Amino acid sequence: MNDDIIKRLTESTDILADLKYLAENAQGKIVFSTSFGIEDQLITDAIFSQKLDTIEVFTLDTGRLFQETYATWDKTVLQYQQKIKTFYPNNEDLEDFIYEKGINPFYESVELRKSCCHIRKVEPLKRALKDVKIWITGLRAEHSPNRNELDVVQWDEQNQLYKYNPLLHWTTEEVKEYVTKNAIPYNALHDQGFVSIGCAPCTRALKPGEDFRAGRWWWEDATKKECGLHA
Ligand code: SF4
Repeated sequence: MNDDIIKRLTESTDILADLKYLAENAQGKIVFSTSFGIEDQLITDAIFSQKLDTIEVFTLDTGRLFQETYATWDKTVLQYQQKIKTFYPNNEDLEDFIYEKGINPFYESVELRKSCCHIRKVEPLKRALKDVKIWITGLRAEHSPNRNELDVVQWDEQNQLYKYNPLLHWTTEEVKEYVTKNAIPYNALHDQGFVSIGCAPCTRALKPGEDFRAGRWWWEDATKKECGLHA
């Protein structure tokens, strides 16, 4: 990504125009990772409604997602008539892990939880990002514990690519308003108190006043809650 593109994306907040500009001007493979959360649905709409074919949309199916998430996925493909590439866990690694540790080992220790996240998410993500130059994400500062360290465009040393976070400075209200106004399909769990929606056994709705991270791996020490997707 050259300096002109970085400057443009960092200074502008027009999501439709910015993604179109990126799709038409950036060199190399561009991907967008969706987990079908409301922020991701907004970006998916911006890509699919403008038919930005140079941006590949992909998802990681951990095998433990909510039925509501699969329903959102299905509805999205039907509505936009566009393809979403799916990466699954390596079958041998997963079969061995479940054989050795059982079906729900993540409740037993942080190490086992991280092993499950590694097999179901981190390793498939590594495959999804192979040869990618620009990775678009739905990260928002309100959801990030290290929000002050994030930029709209940032170099990702671990994956050796540029990460573009177009919704970084959007508020929850702005996201909801945009999604409602544009009739974008979204996960029904958001209406039941779920903020960030991951795997079913590891995500719960938030109670009033709770930090968003309280809804993930709530049985663990707060300082150990990360899955390795966004270093
Ligand atoms: S969030 Fe839970 S079920 Fe999903 S990969 Fe991580 S530990 Fe496994």
